[in-house]
Amino acid sequence: MKITELYGVGEKRAADFEKRSIYTVSELLTFFPRAYEDRTAVRDISDIGNGETALIKAIVMSPVKVSRIRANMTLYTITAADDSGIVKIVFYNNKYVKNAFHTGESFVFFGKMAVTRYSREMQNPIYERSGSCKYTERIVPIYPLSGKLTQKLVINAMENALKTVAETEDYLPAKLREKYKLAEYGFSVRNIHFPADLKSCEAARRRFVFEELFFLQLALAYRRRNTELLQCKPFTSAAYMREFADRLPFPLTNAQKRVMNEISADMHKGHPMSRLVQGDVGSGKTVVAAAAMYAAVKNGCQAAIMAPTEILAAQHYETFSELLKDSGVKICLLTGSVKGKKKLASEIENGGYDIIIGTHAIIQKEVKYKNLGLAVVDEQHRFGVSQRADLVNKSKAVHTLVMTATPIPRTLSFILYGDLDISVIDELPPGRKPVATYAVGEDMRSRVYRFLDKSIKSGMQAYVICPLIEETEGTDLKNVCDVRDRLAKTFPYFAVGLLHGKMKSAEKEAVMTEFVSGKINILVSTTVIEVGVNVVNSNIMIIENAERFGLSQLHQLRGRVGRGHEKAYCIMLARDTNEVTKKRMEIMCKSNDGFYISEQDLQLRGPGDFFGTRQHGLPEMRIANLFRDRDVLSEAQAAAKEILEKDPELSAEENKYIRARVLRIFDENIAMN
Ligand code: ADP
Ligand code: MG
Repeated sequence: MKITELYGVGEKRAADFEKRSIYTVSELLTFFPRAYEDRTAVRDISDIGNGETALIKAIVMSPVKVSRIRANMTLYTITAADDSGIVKIVFYNNKYVKNAFHTGESFVFFGKMAVTRYSREMQNPIYERSGSCKYTERIVPIYPLSGKLTQKLVINAMENALKTVAETEDYLPAKLREKYKLAEYGFSVRNIHFPADLKSCEAARRRFVFEELFFLQLALAYRRRNTELLQCKPFTSAAYMREFADRLPFPLTNAQKRVMNEISADMHKGHPMSRLVQGDVGSGKTVVAAAAMYAAVKNGCQAAIMAPTEILAAQHYETFSELLKDSGVKICLLTGSVKGKKKLASEIENGGYDIIIGTHAIIQKEVKYKNLGLAVVDEQHRFGVSQRADLVNKSKAVHTLVMTATPIPRTLSFILYGDLDISVIDELPPGRKPVATYAVGEDMRSRVYRFLDKSIKSGMQAYVICPLIEETEGTDLKNVCDVRDRLAKTFPYFAVGLLHGKMKSAEKEAVMTEFVSGKINILVSTTVIEVGVNVVNSNIMIIENAERFGLSQLHQLRGRVGRGHEKAYCIMLARDTNEVTKKRMEIMCKSNDGFYISEQDLQLRGPGDFFGTRQHGLPEMRIANLFRDRDVLSEAQAAAKEILEKDPELSAEENKYIRARVLRIFDENIAMN
């Protein structure tokens, strides 16, 4: 049913709803409030303190007084009273109120009370005729709005939409509802929008949270099943991986060996591997991927690896070229800035290259593969859902390996990545010392600079990270341009370099090359160096405005240093040290464990955009909060498992709706096919 069929929703209104991707009545019904305001309690006028927002029921004591105080400012004022006292009600520039109030009528007003010694006043309150209230005298939903939609408009449309919901229909099987104590649909949809009371609201919310997570789990399990049904040539890779390991200048860690075994077993199975490799920064994920890619090539296929930045892709290219020198494996680099892309693409299509390394350039339409057998996505949390899918879809049945030093806590990742097998590299190469981390205030800057001076004179290199690229209006956060100038002035005898995302690729590359070769002593950079980059001699990192970064991001940044044998330092300059900032900085100083840090991050910063699609590559949640609703999440997972065990195809009559909905999730998320 189209939303325009609702009373009061014309073409123009509908266009406003469409901007929020609401086209149909059922989509409107799943447009959930972001919060509620309890407007049930009627208060006595004289009881309400200054600044309190409250509901009053009062009788109009005077006609509307109109006073024009400026050219475009007119005030409309009435006096109203209840048994306890008198209040002045003021509206600004609202000519509609002029005829709305008459002496002796009873109204409810909802707004913020201003109390002085002599008077009480409410400005621009919500008002309704007592006895027929829609926006007051109940728990009122607050929708996440933008554009032209107003709360009143949505509330009206929602009330009409609810009239179309039959009392009895429910698409979740009764057995499931009983087992997991889920409220019925009719009750839930009414109470999620217009709760009778807070308890009903909570019950309604629980049902929709469960539902959302349940269908997600089902879709993931279903997708997993589908890949398991695909056939592909079994690889024999264990021997090749060992052969590759023998080329390395260091022995593998046990964790690396274990993960390689898991990968090799996967690729041997005859259906596509979907494996996530999690490992903290510096745990050595690259060589694991490289070993798998080498094995794929030896099995007669091409292998590709996609990295989120050109800098990282270029670095992978160098690493791979070095490791596979004289092996006969042909490697190419394909990024947006590489010249002769057309020729490169046709060579890839003709099988002229075995290993293709690049950025998202390698998934462009023009790039076709002769026989892609293994696709690796590095730092997968930096990619969107569809980009991962695009790489996988370059071939009919391709093994995939996604790698992440993920900010997703261990407790959640097993549930969230239901469609992937997970390997964890839980061991750092030997000899790594934790990065000594300090949080200091502005007052310590000169000491920090003296330390920098001394260390660089002794041959070290340093990163200085800032949140901004250039001076930006309305903030005094540090930017790389100013900081570079300041450091160049302070240390005229050092070479200070600059790196940020707005620079051309060739410039960026030139700067990185100079830094790697030691020509640059101090590199002032934005977070473009956050992922993956590896400069062994750089052992000092200074982070400006550290309070502005998420903990996981700070940890990723810090992972850029301490890659050599020298002791490494990370100095975080943090301002406005409120309690949360202090706590966050403390965690960074105390711990070098990325998973621990990400759990803490999540707790301290609240969910927010933490689980945005960008981060985890899953559909955006409408109502569930993956952290707060963890209990419901595991119940939903159990329920999904039960259903699929009994009815793997979801073909039973009672699961008809469930099947349709799961398939719809596939359609909406390209990655699901
Ligand atoms: P990440 O897991 O963060 O991607 P990398 O793969 O970039 O880490 O590895 C970090 C550094 O550790 C690289 O310089 C790499 O050569 C080195 N390395 C990887 N595995 C080992 C190992 N088993 N022993 C010693 N050094 C290793
Ligand atoms: Mg890496």
